[in-house]
Amino acid sequence: MKANYHTHTQRCRHAGGSEEDYVRAALDAGLSILGFSDHAPFPDHDYGYRMPYDELGPYFSAVERLAKAHDSDIIIRKGLEIEYAPRYMPYYEQLFDHWKVDYLLLGEHFYADSSGEMRFISQAQDTEANLCYARAIAEALKTGLFSMVAHPDLFAMNFFAWDKNCDAACDIILDAAAQSGAVLEYNANGYRRGIHDYPDERRYMYPHKKFWEKAARAGLPVIIGADCHDPAQVWDECMPRAREDLANLGITALERLENL
Ligand SMILES: [Zn+2]
Ligand SMILES: [Zn+2]
Repeated sequence: MKANYHTHTQRCRHAGGSEEDYVRAALDAGLSILGFSDHAPFPDHDYGYRMPYDELGPYFSAVERLAKAHDSDIIIRKGLEIEYAPRYMPYYEQLFDHWKVDYLLLGEHFYADSSGEMRFISQAQDTEANLCYARAIAEALKTGLFSMVAHPDLFAMNFFAWDKNCDAACDIILDAAAQSGAVLEYNANGYRRGIHDYPDERRYMYPHKKFWEKAARAGLPVIIGADCHDPAQVWDECMPRAREDLANLGITALERLENL
């Protein structure tokens, strides 16, 4: 069975294809479940790389319309990939209660530091930032609002050598996932972003082997996410490859999420 819960659309301004284009691609690729998880806008601030806030309604309507039109061919789920900051708790609740999202995919690209300031993980000055990043994920998972953590090893994209802070960040995130029951996403988009030179090795930015070796030891549930930004990526060669790489680490990826 093929299921993908990590799908973007052109609304985020850095992906191509309409909602309908992704549904067509998913049907062509034989998916049973397609979850839309475009980058969530926030009501009070435009953090960039996402739809304007006033497109939230049209986005949900488009997904709902397609879900109805294709209900005999494919299960379509309505979600968002979203950052966590404590001050947005009422907003997350509104997304469930008012907008009736099926799920929120925790996708931390930026996070609130101890002073409440939003920081992009990609702009970290040192690996100590990974600890703040990991603690923000742990805090988010405690709310119970997020069924999945997108690219939980995203901090590994920063161009530092792996060190004890990186290990500690993995442990914080894995412990939090274990306690909350959230599923970890093995992000296939990391392959598409290519191999890079790091101070200690040549590797993909993510997925990072060290994180997933620890995840394997912890026995946590893992699902593969396409993180597609183009309809052709809904189920491209990166998906079977992700499954194979996980299998080599001793992880059998879930085929779908239990209640989604
Ligand atoms: Zn994106
Ligand atoms: Zn994404």
